[in-house]
Amino acid sequence: MEIDHIVPEAHGGTTVEENLWLACTMCNLYKGDQTTANDPLGGEVLALFNPRAQEWSEHFAWVDHGAQIFGLTAVGRATTAALRLNRSLLVTSRRKWVSAGWHPPKA
Ligand SMILES: [Zn+2]
Repeated sequence: MEIDHIVPEAHGGTTVEENLWLACTMCNLYKGDQTTANDPLGGEVLALFNPRAQEWSEHFAWVDHGAQIFGLTAVGRATTAALRLNRSLLVTSRRKWVSAGWHPPKA
């Protein structure tokens, strides 16, 4: 896992706790310096999900027995697409975690 800036320093984000989140290397790479993304359904450009300011369960749900993330809102869909949260390595890993009883996380 890596500590990343939610609003990148290149966009004026500062290194304060409210602007930092923990991301795996691949999610961090896919996020890059993006702060917005397109909703794949409507095409609307939205701010990416902010784990410091927004509630995960309002924007996302686990589907496919916990193997995949479903965007409940435009923000959820845009973030899922931008960070490729259902990439095959993650889905394969989640299936193994589900069978081990480690996933999905209990709210
Ligand atoms: Zn990740």
